[in-house]
Formats: sequence, C-alpha cells, structure tokens
Amino acid sequence: MAVTTIDLIQAPLADQFNRPITYLRISVTDKCNLRCVYCMPETGLQWLPKGEILTYEEIAELVRAAASAGVRSVRLSGGEPLIRRDLHRLVAAIDAIEGIDDISLSTNGLLLADQIEGLKAAGLRRVNVSLDTLRPERFEQIARRPGLDRVLAGIDAAIAHGLAPVKINVVVMRGQNGDEIADLAEWTKRQAVYVRFIEVMPVHENLGLQRDSYVSSDEILERVRAIGDLHPAIGPGGNGPARYFSFDGAPGAVGVISPLSHDYCERCNRVRLTADGRLRLCLFGDHEIDLRSPLRSGASTEDLVELLRSAMLIKPERHHLRLGETSSRMRAFSEIGG
Ligand code: SAM
Ligand code: SF4
Repeated sequence: MAVTTIDLIQAPLADQFNRPITYLRISVTDKCNLRCVYCMPETGLQWLPKGEILTYEEIAELVRAAASAGVRSVRLSGGEPLIRRDLHRLVAAIDAIEGIDDISLSTNGLLLADQIEGLKAAGLRRVNVSLDTLRPERFEQIARRPGLDRVLAGIDAAIAHGLAPVKINVVVMRGQNGDEIADLAEWTKRQAVYVRFIEVMPVHENLGLQRDSYVSSDEILERVRAIGDLHPAIGPGGNGPARYFSFDGAPGAVGVISPLSHDYCERCNRVRLTADGRLRLCLFGDHEIDLRSPLRSGASTEDLVELLRSAMLIKPERHHLRLGETSSRMRAFSEIGG
C-alpha cells in the first residue's frame, strides 16, 4: 500500500537539543555567473561533474522524505540557482509535495527578471537577492563581473510580481562597501524592502580579505543610526537569523546577521542539502551524511526518513568557529542568506 506523507509524520524531526528542524536549504548547483570576492576565487572552483549533481527528480524525492518528517520550508540556493536550466520545474515539483508550505530562493538577481514569471507561476513565494553596492563600478570590483542594472531590474521584477518580502543581502566589507551602509539603509525608507547586512565570514578563498574587512553588526547598526532613529522591528517572517530594526514610518526594515555569534545557533532550525546530495547539519564543520548513494540504490521514502532521523544525532549544538578561523567545510555559505 502506498505510504502518504501524513502516514509518515509521527514525530517531527528534532535534534538532540530539541530544536525542531523545519527548514531545508537546497543547493541546486555549485556553479555561479559571478565571482564575489568573499565567496569564490576569480578562476571559479573545481566544479562538480554533472553526474554527481542531483537531478530535479532526486531532489524532489529527498524533499518528500523531509516533508514527511516535518520540514515545511524549502529555500533554493547555490552557487547561483538561476543558472540551472528550468529551475521553475523544480519549484513546481516541490510545490506539489504535501507538507511544504513555503518555497523561497536566494539569488544574485542577474537572471531574476527573465525568470520571475515562470518561478512565481510554479509556486515560488519569496526571494532574497544579494547586492553589496549601488555603484556599478564597485559592483564589478566586488562581483568581478558587471551586472548591477540587471540585479536592480530583478529586484524590481520581484516586487512587481508580489514576491514579498524581498530581502536584500549585503555582505559588508571595510574598504569595499562599508561606506555604503547608510545609502543602502535609506532604501528601506522608500520601499518595503528588508536590507540585511551580513558580517563577512572567513572562507578558504577570502581569508586575506576577511582579516582586514570584517565590520561587526554593532558597528553596522551604529552607522545606520547615523541617518535616523531605529526601533526594533518584527522580521518579515521566514526563517532567517536576522535581527530587524526600522526607521520611523519606514515601509521596510534593516536587518543585521552575525553568523559567527551563537544566537544564530540557538535558534537553528535548518539543515542543508548540497548539490551532490550530502546533508549538512551545520553551516560550519564536517557534520554531514551522504543521501545520494542510498537514493541511487533505491532507498524508499521511509528509508530516507530514517536516514534523516539518524542524521539528527550528529547535528552539533553550536559551531566552534571564531573570527579569523576557517574549517574544511567553509564553502557552506549559501546557508547564510536565508
Ligand atoms: N548566489 C546566490 C546569492 O549570491 O545570493 C546564492 C548563494 S550565496 C553563497 C548565498 C549568500 O551567502 C549570499 O547572500 C552571499 O552574499 C552570502 N555569502 C557568501 N559568502 C559569504 C561570506 N564569506 N560571508 C558572508 N556572507 C557570504
Ligand atoms: Fe556567486 Fe552568490 Fe557566491 Fe556571489 S555569493 S559568487 S553570487 S554564489
């Protein structure tokens, strides 16, 4: 007899520290059409061979298992998710899975205006767009490729298609865009956008950059306060780790994200699926299990649910990373922008 999602929900997924796991972040590709200085080297990375990347059908099968164990929100990320062909097909497949009630996307926005209609029709609810500067030449320095106008067009298209709340993720780097904090925060006075400043984190590719560039969220907030009084604000929903503030009467809000702080860990409700089918239990560190091999050897939904449950035992209580350190798994950054 066929097993339905509802049959499988007995105890929702929770880790050893009683944190319910309801959020799955999926990297659909490791490739990207930008080369942001804080994320990857100019020459790119050693890309995964095609055969190692999960197909849309395989991803949907894993989401089905996750949904039957209590996962409710899915975020698609990368690399750059919009460079994977027909992403709307995956969105539609996930939207059809019982139990999933929120599908969102993290993108650099370059291809967003072209695809927004199909994505929205397929069931996409929300979008986070990364944008570190409002100056075209600076965009090219930070992203190492041009495209600011296309990203802004993507943000406008998302707003026009009602994909609210649109969150703008800004990685703050001293000497690169630290002097634009006020300009970016001003945006929230004009439009209902959530501008979220993220402390830059160390990765293999950017250790040199990070030591000089780190700006703490306290300093970020101080610079935002220079242009108006801030009040603590309710976030726009979603599962993000940001703390929000708004200016008097502003339609939008400013957020700060401190990935290295442990507040982030205490509220952790998420796990992450890599493009090649590994389930990562923490943004930092080596805690992961392989789901692709069992999936390709014919594991049933029930088997996959059992694997997800067993993975909960290795989800750490917190990361142990401090500023200036890196771990062997630091490329897990797509976790941040959620
Ligand atoms: N390509 C998409 C994008 O840029 O939004 C999705 C993947 S990207 C890796 C996800 C998020 O991680 C982005 O908001 C990006 O700014 C952030 N990120 C990447 N490397 C980071 C770092 N070293 N420190 C802080 N945030 C980082
Ligand atoms: Fe690409 Fe996003 Fe990394 Fe920038 S942050 S290089 S857009 S994956």
